[in-house]
Amino acid sequence: MNPLYARMGTTIFEAMSARARATGAINLGQGFADGPGPRAVLEASAAALLEKSNQYPPMIGLPELRAAVADHYARHQGINLTPDEVVVTSGATEALAASLFALIAPGDEVLCFQPLYDAYVPLIRQAGGVPRFVRLEPPHWRIDSAALAAAVTPRTRLVLLNNPLNPAATMASAAELAAIAALCVEHDLIAICDEVWEHVTFDGARHLPLIGFPGMRERTVKIGSAGKIFALTGFKVGWMCAAPPLARVLAKAHQFLTFTTPPNLQWGVAAGLASEDEWVAAASARFQAGRDRLATGLRDAGLAVLPSAATYFLSVDLAESGLVMDDVTFSERLVDEAGVATVPVSAFYAEAPVTNVVRFCFVKEDATLDAAIARVAGWV
Ligand code: PMP
Ligand code: GLN
Repeated sequence: MNPLYARMGTTIFEAMSARARATGAINLGQGFADGPGPRAVLEASAAALLEKSNQYPPMIGLPELRAAVADHYARHQGINLTPDEVVVTSGATEALAASLFALIAPGDEVLCFQPLYDAYVPLIRQAGGVPRFVRLEPPHWRIDSAALAAAVTPRTRLVLLNNPLNPAATMASAAELAAIAALCVEHDLIAICDEVWEHVTFDGARHLPLIGFPGMRERTVKIGSAGKIFALTGFKVGWMCAAPPLARVLAKAHQFLTFTTPPNLQWGVAAGLASEDEWVAAASARFQAGRDRLATGLRDAGLAVLPSAATYFLSVDLAESGLVMDDVTFSERLVDEAGVATVPVSAFYAEAPVTNVVRFCFVKEDATLDAAIARVAGWV
């Protein structure tokens, strides 16, 4: 048995959702929306399932989807990619695995930021890499450039960044991204930038892709997910974008992870990327209203709510709220005693966790949010 997995617990997202299912709690833990997603994506997927081939599509993805992804980023982010620079994966999770497996040689160090998505560290370790952490802290979660520079060693090969950042709900500033880019250029590092939340941004903020910074076009892997763009998390269609010498190596790892992704879902996503810009913008506006509704309700209940600039999440600072308990205790008691599932933010740290912050998902119907607020208010 691989001790990495033998010793490991179940991911917090599944653990909290299972607990919510078992107890009938309102699930504000795992991040997923309760709407159906854009009709055009569902119809194109259903039509393709019935009318097009369901045999293996090309290994790096349908050419139509790769072209749609390239076109989408040209339109929204001013990045010029050719379709050959896009490799379609089974969700961003597979893109992360393929990138890390393809780019890490045993003993290589990967500079990453805590809090981090819980898949990152096991994937780095499985690839034989060594994570080196730069720690971010509430309430602002800003990147300290001195800490960043201090984390680089002669063995550092990669930087793994998530922007916008789950669970902090922050967007890296232009200055922070420029500092990361300068570091990559200075030390000849490759950046893997997980940008799955690039379209779920609020208050008019614009996402800045790291690949667009000076010196980064040839040394960045940009990861995206249709699950987030169209609020269809079960679709598991993602991609990695990179210059041809990188993309070719990424494809080698992808070919022996999943080889491919269901073709009808690829057709649906291609159709959506071409036609659903308005749906995507309207969804963000709806999610922003949900954020404000939940933030107001939790504040009225006496909780200290941290700012949320992006993602499906906001966080509560327990210490600032006057609650004397850690995040895991809070989450466990809230789900069992009040019937509301959340996620303790310490689950996003591999070492020296922040233990006073709990994450709530707000992309739910108003009635669901109101019911959750009432349960929290009656419990705290
Ligand atoms: N990266 C981050 C930062 C995420 O939050 C998520 C899931 N929400 C993923 C990757 C996984 O995306 P997918 O479901 O497309 O695999
Ligand atoms: N990324 C989602 C979240 O942060 C969950 C993904 C998963 O369940 N694996 O809640």
